[in-house]
Amino acid sequence: MTVNRRFLLARRPHGTPVPQDFSLVEQPVPEAPEGGFVVRNCYASLDPAQRGWMDDAPSYMPPIPLGDPVRATTVGVVAASKSPDFAVGDWVLGMNGLEDYSVNVAGGFTMKVDVSQVDSPSRFLSAMGAVGLTAYFGLTEVARPKAGETLLVSGAAGAVGSAVGQIGKIMGCRVIGIAGGPAKCRRLIEDYGFDVAIDYKTAEGRAKSVAELAAEIRAAAPNGADVVFENVGGDVMDAELLNLAKYARIVLCGMISEYNSPEKIGVRNLWQVLAQQATLYGYLVMDYVPRFAEGGAVMAGWMAEGRLRIDEDVQEGLENAYDAFMRLFTGANTGKLVLKIADGL
Ligand code: NAP
Repeated sequence: MTVNRRFLLARRPHGTPVPQDFSLVEQPVPEAPEGGFVVRNCYASLDPAQRGWMDDAPSYMPPIPLGDPVRATTVGVVAASKSPDFAVGDWVLGMNGLEDYSVNVAGGFTMKVDVSQVDSPSRFLSAMGAVGLTAYFGLTEVARPKAGETLLVSGAAGAVGSAVGQIGKIMGCRVIGIAGGPAKCRRLIEDYGFDVAIDYKTAEGRAKSVAELAAEIRAAAPNGADVVFENVGGDVMDAELLNLAKYARIVLCGMISEYNSPEKIGVRNLWQVLAQQATLYGYLVMDYVPRFAEGGAVMAGWMAEGRLRIDEDVQEGLENAYDAFMRLFTGANTGKLVLKIADGL
């Protein structure tokens, strides 16, 4: 191929992204720079975090520059190399972009992956990638629940949340999940083995009030939650905060309900952290990148034993990047959202 299709950030979204915020352009395939290589991106991870990177706001990563491809973790094959460490044909995981070809260099998050050990290279974006390992390290290293404790998970049917709940069960917790809609709540019980599923939406599809949701959590966990794994923020988090056990640990992993909200919704029941002498951890999986191989091996073991199920929602085609990305915010995704760009070289 001589053409590099690139899904660019054309302007910063205000609120919910619209198609005009992006443009799909065709440019020449880049040359490998001295010491670097060009990767043919095969699968790209579509993550809620990308929405944050589109804003010009302080974060743990710089904003995506306007006119650059939307930053994305990808797994792909080295297509050209002037690096002593990466040869043509090597499979690599790295921080690249929503584009056919990316220029990369050794270091940072870039690592070779052995695709012979998985059924699809996309596994390195789900179970054995940042998302599965977000669940693994967030629970086992940050929250550290003990057997018999109550674990409350929001965004529970999603990629991170479903893994958190299942790992919580492996660790001996009683697991309560909060998700949107009856189908997702059914999956929490039937597919992921949660003990209790709570729908944060009404039968009409509107979000329940904080009081309504708090009452449902209280019914499921009369003694409160020992661990809260927070993926949603906003009203859902406010309802959870009203149901903390004394000395609860809250892992603040994500706040997806706020990402498209120009006026941040905020959390109003923070007082409960004080009242219950709870601990709130701001958590980023990035700290655990050096331990990805270790965590990935544990996750792979659990999957092989049939104790952990990681679903993927694979959408096809760079030209469908916008529609695919928006599935995260409508809740249409049924598992780790991945965009397939190509099969290989
Ligand atoms: P995901 O859960 O697979 O997909 C996003 C889900 O969020 C949707 O399916 C939807 O589920 C729910 N959602 C969307 N808008 C919502 C809203 N307004 N209110 C309530 N729920 C809403 O995505 P993921 O990749 O696993 O990410 C989950 C969370 O983890 C995100 O907050 C993300 O930022 C965070 N994360 C953090 C780290 C870290 O290092 N801290 C790493 C990876 C991901 P429903 O249908 O149930 O609403």
